[in-house]
Amino acid sequence: MQNTNNPTHAPGGVLWLTGLSGAGKTTLATALKQRLANEGGLAVVLDGDILRTGLNAGLGFSPADRQENVRRTAEVAALFKAEGFVVICALISPAAAQRQLARTIVGERFFEVHVSSDLSVCERRDPKGLYAKARSGTLAEFTGVASPYEVPAMPDLAIDTSGSTIAQSLSELERFARSRLRLAYRTPG
Ligand code: ADP
Repeated sequence: MQNTNNPTHAPGGVLWLTGLSGAGKTTLATALKQRLANEGGLAVVLDGDILRTGLNAGLGFSPADRQENVRRTAEVAALFKAEGFVVICALISPAAAQRQLARTIVGERFFEVHVSSDLSVCERRDPKGLYAKARSGTLAEFTGVASPYEVPAMPDLAIDTSGSTIAQSLSELERFARSRLRLAYRTPG
C-alpha cells in the first residue's frame, strides 16, 4: 500500500466505518480486509456485531453502553495499530461524541468513513432482519428507527452505497486506504 502523502510514517492505521445498519459497513470492511490480506498485508476487521457476541457481550444499546462499546473497540484498534495493522472497524457508532472518543483513543492515522445509504434502502436490504423487528416493536432502541443517528459533519471519506455496486463502493474505500495508509506485510516464520 502506498502512502502518497508521507511515505515515512509508520504502517497501519484505523478506518472507522460508521453508518446505519444495512448501509454496507461489514460488507466493505471484510472485502477490503480480504483484498489486503491476499497481498500478505496485515489487516484486521473489528465488527460491532461480532464484538457484541464476545468482548462486548453484556452491553446493550443505551447511550452509555454504546459509548462503552465504542471505547473498548477503539482500545483494541489502537493495540492492533501499534502492531502495524490496518484496522477496519465496522460499528454503527451513532453519536458524534462516540466517534470523537474513538479518534482520541486511536490518535494519529484515524480516519472516519461514513458509509451511508438511504434509510429506505437499508430497510429494504435488511440483511439481518433487524428493521423488521424494530418496526414490529420487538427490537428497542434500533438506530434509524427508534434511536437517532448523527450524520458525520466532516468525515474523512463518505461512501454512498445506495446506488452503487459493492465493487464500486469497495474501490472507493480501497483507493482512500491506499492513499492514506501504509500496509505492513507478514514476515515468514
Ligand atoms: P452493515 O454492516 O452496515 O449493517 P451489511 O454490510 O451487513 O451492512 O449489509 C449491507 C447489505 O447491502 C449487504 O446485503 C450487501 O450485499 C448490500 N449492498 C448492496 N450494495 C452495496 C454496496 N454498494 N456496498 C455495500 N453493501 C451493499
